[in-house]
Amino acid sequence: MKKKTFLLAAQAFVIIFVFLLPACNPQKQMITDSAYMLGTHLQLSLWTEDKAEGMAVIRECFQRIYQIEQKMSVNIANSEVNEINRYAGKEYVAVSDDTMTVLRKGFAYAALTDGAFNPAIGPLVKLWGIGTEKERVPRLDEIQEVLKYVDYKGIKFQDENKVKLDIDGMQLDLGGIAKGYAADAVTKIIREKGIKHAIINLGGNVVAVGKKTDGTPWKIGIQDPFEPTGTHMGVIEITDQTVVTSGNYERYFMRDGKRYHHIIDPKTGYPSENGVISATIITDSSIDADALSTSVYVLGLEKGMKLIESMEGVECIIITEGKKVYLSSGLKGRLKIANDGFEIVD
Ligand code: FAD
Ligand code: MG
Repeated sequence: MKKKTFLLAAQAFVIIFVFLLPACNPQKQMITDSAYMLGTHLQLSLWTEDKAEGMAVIRECFQRIYQIEQKMSVNIANSEVNEINRYAGKEYVAVSDDTMTVLRKGFAYAALTDGAFNPAIGPLVKLWGIGTEKERVPRLDEIQEVLKYVDYKGIKFQDENKVKLDIDGMQLDLGGIAKGYAADAVTKIIREKGIKHAIINLGGNVVAVGKKTDGTPWKIGIQDPFEPTGTHMGVIEITDQTVVTSGNYERYFMRDGKRYHHIIDPKTGYPSENGVISATIITDSSIDADALSTSVYVLGLEKGMKLIESMEGVECIIITEGKKVYLSSGLKGRLKIANDGFEIVD
């Protein structure tokens, strides 16, 4: 992972952290720890009277994320996802409930978005190599060649837990959804342990458990997509919800003055370009928010907003070029703009 990307992840962490401090109170102390997994910076903070128990909970959460990464990473040779990729066009592969849940959810979002969200995006992610030492602008013929292998309908399910990719050359990549699953898994552990106040931040996939210890909602900063230095453009208050953002500032490289970022439009094979700069989803489940933030980014303002408005309990903030901010109907009046350069469009 490049240093530039790591710095951005670290800055996202600082933004959230700023709002954590006022939550401390003398009865419950904040236990916090960070780690580097899923190719990003992770931070877990929880409030408890029992420091040793709090530290044990955090350890268990990191172990759970480690397990999920071992199963779903394309960067781990013997992960279940790589096993499915290896047998593409050949055989069904039996996988764990974790991987199956993410794959079925990813497939459902692919169907819902007509393939704008695509868990079979692997060949294009590899070709562009964005965020790796191999990043480059591929030739058009190379893109056209791999586009043959990115049809999500080629993901076949059999029985409870078997998956096969129809064509040799297809490859899964769960980078747009698995962080959300990990965030939900960690939330489940924290709730089961009876912890009432926690903030989970998996490289910008944020879950706020309960309220702050003073009984007020959590304040989550929404990153200013034009300022990679880590300033927020606005603040949203949430309780027991998740906030997930997809943006073009997270992983990208510049070539000849043009920005090539990591969210790829599966229809063109190029980084998605439709005027959207960032898409933030606010809802109850982080796997849905993760898949939807990537989906809305690719669908664009009109189709993306229509999709969100059709879904119960899901809200979004879409920022476009020109610093225009579009809010779904349930968010009107809830985003406090912190930077006058942004304009909320009604
Ligand atoms: P999102 O918008 O949520 O996702 C964008 C990512 O989804 C892209 O990076 C790509 O992976 C994929 N994607 C692109 N276009 C689409 C599309 N149209 N539909 C669906 N998916 C799409 N990074 C490292 O540098 N090194 C690692 O070892 C590493 N391991 C990881 C292991 C796991 C299990 C996961 C979940 C992520 C890992 N990552 C790693 C990070 C990963 O490569 C992505 O960069 C990251 O998940 C992007 O998340 P996001 O929230 O920034 O963007
Ligand atoms: Mg996503």
